[in-house]
Amino acid sequence: MEHLCCLRCNRELKAGQKSVAVYLFAQTVGIRPRQKSAAQRICFCPQCSVCLAMGLAPDGALNVAAWKMIRDLVGSDPALNTAAWETLRGTVGMLPSGEAGAGSAARPGNEAAESSAVH
Ligand SMILES: [Zn+2]
Repeated sequence: MEHLCCLRCNRELKAGQKSVAVYLFAQTVGIRPRQKSAAQRICFCPQCSVCLAMGLAPDGALNVAAWKMIRDLVGSDPALNTAAWETLRGTVGMLPSGEAGAGSAARPGNEAAESSAVH
């Protein structure tokens, strides 16, 4: 059983979970005998895929090649965006209550501070 993690955020990706898989293998050309490496499978969770695609081009030719492929996926259909959004909502819902343990998050003063910060 494969144990896969998102390459970027290390989030565990269970079998069949929404993600982007990048397959990589190398093969010799014009050399006999022809050699072929084992294939590597690199996975990205939907959030990291969208984040990468929206971000600036990375360094390195191989990274740019992968970035272009992910951009192609994210840009051609909103399904991956939707998956990222669903994951985000799920994560927000599961945030430990200790995060807002002080109860300061609901203070009405925050609203005023936020709206004034917009200007
Ligand atoms: Zn990730």
